[in-house]
Amino acid sequence: MTRPSAEAFPVSDRQPVLFVSHGAPTWALDPVAAADFRALGAALPRPGAVLVVSAHWTDAPPALGARQPRDLLYDFHGFPPELYRIRYQAPAAAALADELERQIPGLRRDDDRGWDHGVWVPLMHLFPTADVPILQVSLPQAWSPVQLFEFGSALAPLRDQGVLILASGGMVHNLARLAWDGGGGAPQWATDFESFVRERLTRGDTDGLLAYRERAPGFALAHPTDEHFTPLLVAAGAAGSAPVAFPIEGFDFGSLSRLAVRFG
Ligand code: ZN
Repeated sequence: MTRPSAEAFPVSDRQPVLFVSHGAPTWALDPVAAADFRALGAALPRPGAVLVVSAHWTDAPPALGARQPRDLLYDFHGFPPELYRIRYQAPAAAALADELERQIPGLRRDDDRGWDHGVWVPLMHLFPTADVPILQVSLPQAWSPVQLFEFGSALAPLRDQGVLILASGGMVHNLARLAWDGGGGAPQWATDFESFVRERLTRGDTDGLLAYRERAPGFALAHPTDEHFTPLLVAAGAAGSAPVAFPIEGFDFGSLSRLAVRFG
């Protein structure tokens, strides 16, 4: 079976930038997560394409993923079998890949790279009709916070070409500390870290945001490794001075943040 690749580009209005916490793979089938993401998607201007940077592909320097449809990556283990049967057959945004190569020198290609669950879990809810073309670019996790922010800034012009930049990670993400029964609510270190980040974003305090490793309370517990946080830096760079809103809030499994950020 073949699916269409991206049609003409650009296509639509200036786009916001999103950071989403993609949660556990089970959020693919979770009615609360589905409703939250669907409401967020329904409130967006329709994009011509979506460029996704996910915590689950961390190659540096950045690489562009598949320009033709590929099978999804089920990059998790030990979850219910129905998760491994999910399909999300959106077109690949080949035209966006060409455009990015024109705008940003030094991007590598990985034409065989399919979408990981950091891509398809939120997208299957945000755009359930799977008719918006998608391109994934890797998160160059080895780069410094400033470099990641500047990478986002380099992507910013795409917003005026109808491209929704979707950064997918987790605002608080410590799998060893999850309470799978959800009991007890979010611990203090999780809410402290999240509050710090929300305040930096709301104030437009980029320096404070980029100094999260030194300044954010609870950082070491919130992010034993910070690849689920750094997509936010790319999003913030792409957003510039756009106003900030938090369309999805709360926690799951104790400390797993649901926070989503909409810029613009
Ligand atoms: Zn993840």
